[in-house]
Amino acid sequence: MIMDREKRLAAHIKARPHLRDIFEFQHRIEEIWNSSSPDDFLPVVCLSEPDVRQRMKEGTPLIDRPLFSKISLTNSESQMRRILTVMKTGGGEREVLASKMASYLRGSGRGEAWFIRSILAHDDGFLDRVSQETEVPGPLLLHLLRMSLRISFERLHETLRTVLRNLDWDYPLCPVCGAAPSIGQTISPDERRYFCYFCSFSWLAHPPEGCPSCGLIDPDRVNLLYKHPEENQGILACEGCFSYLKVVDQRYAEEDLDSDFQEILGIHLDLAAMEMGFHPLGQPPGRAEIIVRPGIDSPKF
Ligand SMILES: [Zn+2]
Ligand SMILES: [Zn+2]
Repeated sequence: MIMDREKRLAAHIKARPHLRDIFEFQHRIEEIWNSSSPDDFLPVVCLSEPDVRQRMKEGTPLIDRPLFSKISLTNSESQMRRILTVMKTGGGEREVLASKMASYLRGSGRGEAWFIRSILAHDDGFLDRVSQETEVPGPLLLHLLRMSLRISFERLHETLRTVLRNLDWDYPLCPVCGAAPSIGQTISPDERRYFCYFCSFSWLAHPPEGCPSCGLIDPDRVNLLYKHPEENQGILACEGCFSYLKVVDQRYAEEDLDSDFQEILGIHLDLAAMEMGFHPLGQPPGRAEIIVRPGIDSPKF
C-alpha cells in the first residue's frame, strides 16, 4: 500500500515538474505518518446507537470538540514537531513560516499539544490571535494542524465507517468533524463522494440539483466550470452565494481518488475560483480556516 503511494507520488512528480516542490513536501510528510503512531480519538465521539442516529438525522457531526481537552495528544504533538522540522529545513517561505511558528510555541512555554487542544476544544478566535501574533496565515496554521492529526483521524475513521454504514447523511459537511468538503467526486448522475477538508473522511451523498450550499437551481448561475477542457476536474460554482466546490468526474476512470494528491492537482482551480470572486463551500469569504464546531456553532452550509 505504502509502495503504491510512493510510486504514484513519483509518477506525479515526473508528470508535473511545476508541482514538484509540493509533491516532494507531501512525500516527506507521509514519511512522518508512516513512522508514527496515532492518538486515540475515540473518546471524543459518542458511539451510543440512539445518539448516532439522532445526530445523523439532525445533521450534527459525531465529534464533540470540547472533549479534545480531555484526551492525550502526545503522538499528534510529536508529529507536529517533526512536520515543523521538515518545513524548517526546506528553505523558502515555508521555512520562514515554520520558524515563526516554532519560536511562538517555544515562547509560549506550552508546546504543540496546548496549541492543538486550544484550536480544537476551545475557541476559533485563538487561531486568529496566533495568526496575528506570528504573522503565519490562518489557513497554513490549520494545514499544519490537519497534517499533525491525520493518522489519528484515519484510525478513528476505521471504527466510524462501521458505525456510519447504512446511515443517511446528505448534508454538505463532514459527518465526523463538521468541516466542509473540499472535493466532490462524481460517482454517478445522482451520487457524489465528498472528501472532508479537515479530517479527510469521505462519504457518499445524493447531492441536490444545483448549488450544494444555497440550493439555487439555475443552470445559468450554477455551473461546472473547467479550466482546461481535457481535465477531469473543475469547479461547481454558484453565482447565487458565490461558493464553489472542486468536482472530479471519475465516472469512467478506474483509479480511486486520493484526496491529498487531488488537492495538489487542483491548486490552480482554487486560485482561479478565488480570482473570480468565489469562496470555498461552507466557509465564509476570507475565513477559509473555519471549522463548524458541533454543539457550539450552528452549521452553515
Ligand atoms: Zn471531517
Ligand atoms: Zn449557492
